[in-house]
Amino acid sequence: MDKITNLEKIVSLAKRRGFIYPGSEIYGGLGGTWDYGPLGVELKNNIKKAFWQSMVYGRDDVVGIDTAILMNPKVWEASGHVKAFTDPLVECKICHKRFRADNVTEAKEKLKHMVFTKTSSISTNVTSWSLSQEQSEILPFIYCMDGKNKHDFKEIVENPTKDKEHNFTEPKKFNLLVEAKLGVVEDAKQKVYLRGEITQGVHVNFKNILDSTRVQIPFGIAQIGKAFRNEITPGNFTFRSREFEQMELQYYVKPEKEESEKWYEYWKNERMKWYLELGMKKDKLRFRQHEEGERAHYAKDAWDIEYDLSASGGGWKEFEGIHNRGDWDLSQHQKHSGVDMTYFEPAKNKKYLPYIIETSGGVDRAALFFLIDAYTEEPAKDEPGLQKSSKPGSGDIAKRVILKLHPKLAPFKAAVFPLLANKPDLVKKARLLYSQLSIHHLLQPVAWDDRGNIGKRYFAQDEIGTPYCITIDFETLENDTVTIRDRDTAKQERVKVDTLANILMKKFS
Ligand code: ATP
Repeated sequence: MDKITNLEKIVSLAKRRGFIYPGSEIYGGLGGTWDYGPLGVELKNNIKKAFWQSMVYGRDDVVGIDTAILMNPKVWEASGHVKAFTDPLVECKICHKRFRADNVTEAKEKLKHMVFTKTSSISTNVTSWSLSQEQSEILPFIYCMDGKNKHDFKEIVENPTKDKEHNFTEPKKFNLLVEAKLGVVEDAKQKVYLRGEITQGVHVNFKNILDSTRVQIPFGIAQIGKAFRNEITPGNFTFRSREFEQMELQYYVKPEKEESEKWYEYWKNERMKWYLELGMKKDKLRFRQHEEGERAHYAKDAWDIEYDLSASGGGWKEFEGIHNRGDWDLSQHQKHSGVDMTYFEPAKNKKYLPYIIETSGGVDRAALFFLIDAYTEEPAKDEPGLQKSSKPGSGDIAKRVILKLHPKLAPFKAAVFPLLANKPDLVKKARLLYSQLSIHHLLQPVAWDDRGNIGKRYFAQDEIGTPYCITIDFETLENDTVTIRDRDTAKQERVKVDTLANILMKKFS
């Protein structure tokens, strides 16, 4: 059966099974904040662990860092964040793109006087629109161009229906940076910002890293941490939150076009590979290059890795950005702090400000997209455990929901069940096995469940993505064997208890 998935099903599963809850729920919530429950925290930690393993432990040219959320406000002046977000802005309620309100008014005015030219080729019998540079710059201010590039403008020019237009909020003069007050004496409190991106903490430590480690260009600094943004329209579950986590790499390279482009391509491919290796479906992922005018103030070139949310009515959505930041950050910090931020290259006896290639992913968006990608509904298989213990009418056993998460990401690596909770011999043996498996790093954490019939216990683990279920039954007491049930195939194999840990660990290594 085809995979049926939509955001509502994920939102409901996430709440019901303890992945994600609305923040401060008992007080009516706080828009754009989310709390991760027992399973959510495991999923997120697994994503972060996999990121760190691939970006830091797996290579000798990247070091890690963990910088403060609160920074001297001058950092944000230097980085351009204070200035870049103080104009009156409007935000499209559909695609969430923000525009300066005056640019939209200007664009609408210009559009009124524009003449679009239709061209047709006799040989191919194809008609198209030839757009001037100005026209292709203006249209995104008026129409939702989410995930589109200027070659898709044809459709909009031919059929400029109302529903493709942005649906803007009222103009607001606002700063995306979240402000806080720091200090003990009320009048003397200093205004600070909760960091709007985790990037700047890395760049302001560029010199410290050079002085305290043995890195040489090209090298990178990886960081994972919280960021805060005063989003005007948070929504789509955790997709756009006001508090979220980022996982980033800032990779410093020689300030040469060819060199920076080479590394840019390299990191684009590495990051896409990472998501694929963690099981995301290839046809749901794509790269999209930012158009002129769409790029952030610091970016020379920017590509997003996007996920196809069409099945949930969302279109293609960004969840990681790969940016060529040039020497923007280091030159700005050098200018504003007065500190020399150059790198000295001994071989050439030369000082320079390196270029920066950045990979910036959202942990929360990755968690959400991994959940959506893994969500599967299938007809229930004719399983031994299910047949034995599910009485007709005892619940919906016609369909099973499986989170086909990569085993590395699954919140529980295995679950242990005594067949019956009221048989002390079975429970004792299962408890022993549970504690023996739980000490192995690769298998942590292991779930325990002794309630309800065994078929339903299997289904409950399928729904949260547990790759293997181990059942201790009467045969275990006779010949010291247990069954291992595979989440995706629902197949069971019987193995000796003393080989179980090794068999499972092999599956995870
Ligand atoms: P968007 O265009 O969706 O607002 P952005 O281009 O501003 O995102 P970046 O500043 O490049 O995003 O941040 C890097 C990553 O951080 C994004 O790809 C996303 O995964 C994550 N991220 C950014 N803003 C949010 C948010 N409000 N909520 C959750 N994750 C976010």
